[in-house]
Amino acid sequence: MSVFASLPDQELEEATLRRLRRLVELESPSSDPVRLRALAGELAASLAGLGAEVDTVESEAGEHLVARLTGSDPLLEPILLLAHMDTVHAVGSFDPVFQVADGRASGPGTFDMKGGIACMLEAIARLRQAGSQPRRPVVVLITCDEEAGSGTSRQLIEDVAGGVHAVLVPEPPLPGGQAKTRRKGVSIYQIEVEGRASHAGLAPEKGVNAIVELAHQVLAITAMADPAAGTTTSVGVVGGGTISNVVPERAWAHVDVRFTSAAESGRVDRAMRSLRPVLQGTAVAVEGGVNRPPMELTVAGVDLYEEARAIAAAEGWELGQGLAGGASDGSFTAGMGVPTLDGIGPDGAGAHAAHEHVLIADLPRRVRLYSRLLEIL
Ligand SMILES: [Zn+2]
Repeated sequence: MSVFASLPDQELEEATLRRLRRLVELESPSSDPVRLRALAGELAASLAGLGAEVDTVESEAGEHLVARLTGSDPLLEPILLLAHMDTVHAVGSFDPVFQVADGRASGPGTFDMKGGIACMLEAIARLRQAGSQPRRPVVVLITCDEEAGSGTSRQLIEDVAGGVHAVLVPEPPLPGGQAKTRRKGVSIYQIEVEGRASHAGLAPEKGVNAIVELAHQVLAITAMADPAAGTTTSVGVVGGGTISNVVPERAWAHVDVRFTSAAESGRVDRAMRSLRPVLQGTAVAVEGGVNRPPMELTVAGVDLYEEARAIAAAEGWELGQGLAGGASDGSFTAGMGVPTLDGIGPDGAGAHAAHEHVLIADLPRRVRLYSRLLEIL
């Protein structure tokens, strides 16, 4: 049992809520480096207060934090706690910004994923207070651009994750609080079609309609899906033409592809790159590719989940697991072959929505889960 398993839930709950309130009140949309730096300062101070050695990594998006804690066996490969401090919510989207009511803590980022960060910090604090320590060294990496696609942090994540024993990602769980042991990967493509402009009334035969060509391509892309294999293709945005009396010279589309295996992402990628014009006189160009690889189930990944499940079971609750349609930074570390347990943040709902919240009753057991994981992994 954890060193502080006997502590009353209410005390843990209040301490975690205080941390969460501070993090949520420092609103931090991905597009706001000034606010992200302010939150990074707060997080760095908290981590330093917990005995961590904290480095900040500057980027145009804001500051990423890399904090290191010692373990009782300093020669072991570390555990990486991987989180992001940015949210999708514009400043002022919630009024009040943080609210506790009906067993819920609501506000921007409560569920995705400041609730997970608050529990993580509290877990480290409790271990310290109890005179215990993580078994392995711990690296806490908190990035500031996950919701924007991790453009400035991906390399850092992969550098830090190289050589760690396992990665824990306190992202929002699946409904019912289930961990995410598998995630779909994402590819993003841009399709550009070039036709030939002409007057739609005076000389329509001299034009080649780029939008009609794009329509052929949209249908071809739609047919690449394989729902039974978990592969979807979605043409999400299209554009083209100038005014209605001109045969359009250009048209374009943005495409989202999701898949559960590298084999499927490869199949779709080859098909996308093989797209050829249907109408004579048009050209089709395809750009893009894999944005985040799929998180596939591995033996080591299952073992990691089983450790967490057993801790929860010993405390009398069920930690389920399942497949998530969305990707996270955990997809990068899983893609490197590092055992990654994702979606172990506190239960709640409304990620990216106006009703975003976490369930307060779930906070204490998550804190205990993380601290116990750090003690035994
Ligand atoms: Zn997230």
